[in-house]
Amino acid sequence: MRISRRSLLKGAAAAGAAGAVTALAGKAEASEHEPKHRPDAVGMLYDSTLCVGCRACVTKCKEANQLPVDASAMQGTEKPVYDAPNDLNGQTKNIIKVFKDGERFAFMKQQCMHCVDPSCVSVCMMGALHKEGEGTRTIAGETKGTGIVAYDKATCVGCRYCQIACAFNVPKFEWLEPLPRIVKCELCRHRADKTKQGPLAVANPACCEVCPREAVIYGKREELLAIARRRLAADPKRYNGKIYGEKDGGGTQVLYLAAAGIGFHDLGLPDLPETSAASFSEHVSHTPYLHGITPLVLYGTAAFVIHRNKQKEETAERHEEGK
Ligand code: SF4
Ligand code: SF4
Ligand code: SF4
Repeated sequence: MRISRRSLLKGAAAAGAAGAVTALAGKAEASEHEPKHRPDAVGMLYDSTLCVGCRACVTKCKEANQLPVDASAMQGTEKPVYDAPNDLNGQTKNIIKVFKDGERFAFMKQQCMHCVDPSCVSVCMMGALHKEGEGTRTIAGETKGTGIVAYDKATCVGCRYCQIACAFNVPKFEWLEPLPRIVKCELCRHRADKTKQGPLAVANPACCEVCPREAVIYGKREELLAIARRRLAADPKRYNGKIYGEKDGGGTQVLYLAAAGIGFHDLGLPDLPETSAASFSEHVSHTPYLHGITPLVLYGTAAFVIHRNKQKEETAERHEEGK
């Protein structure tokens, strides 16, 4: 699917909220909240230069997650018969988009980024969204576990704060279901193969399994980072020189490489500072006063931005789901 103006605007709006919070964070003192180091964190590396846009990963994701067909991209045709989602939505956890601007052209895979320090987890008062393995510490103080951002429908109250907090515009809501839930990639943790060792014992992402080009691969985040660095070093003219997700927004467990001449912003990924928005929000909630400014003022400003973005998002999503 072509990266639409609306999806870019939505990303920009979400990034705007994150940016507003982060701008305020710049005025805050150093936070005690630090993203935890998880040596067992797993993730994916998507190399846009290898992707041919076959969408096998989209189809396999649907199958593995038992998601219904979404023919929204076939609107206007007489019989929308096959799965052709336009964007992430309540029926789609993984999407391939295309960026095109004159001669510049690139594919883009979008799903949950499994942030190292996720805003969605930070705002989820019920703990319905949580980092897998959270709370289990090693003697060295490291947090064990995959770091997959998992969802528990049983404890979700449907407040949708996670939708507003996510700078990547990922969590979607099942508007048409009587008992709606949040829909987002959980790195196929339900497919974990307990008979295997290492990262494959904790997840088995369908999209990585089926990709004919190995454009998206699965593994430990630290190993994926090493692979990405090796690719950049081996063929610097092929790539734009950056690994998106290494530090952006506090780091993500899904990492991206893109071709020379293609910016990550072109692919719909927001420009984020290295400090996670979650670290700021938790700092504010734990700090009575910041430079004499009551946190209520900061909350008020953030709430205004969030409320404005939420209204835009709701209108757009209702429109999309009602198509
Ligand atoms: S299966 Fe692989 S090559 Fe095909 S669209 Fe997905 S990531 Fe790209
Ligand atoms: S991309 Fe969004 S939904 Fe996924 S972990 Fe990050 S904040 Fe949460
Ligand atoms: S890891 Fe699983 S749920 Fe996530 S995008 Fe890949 S196939 Fe879909």
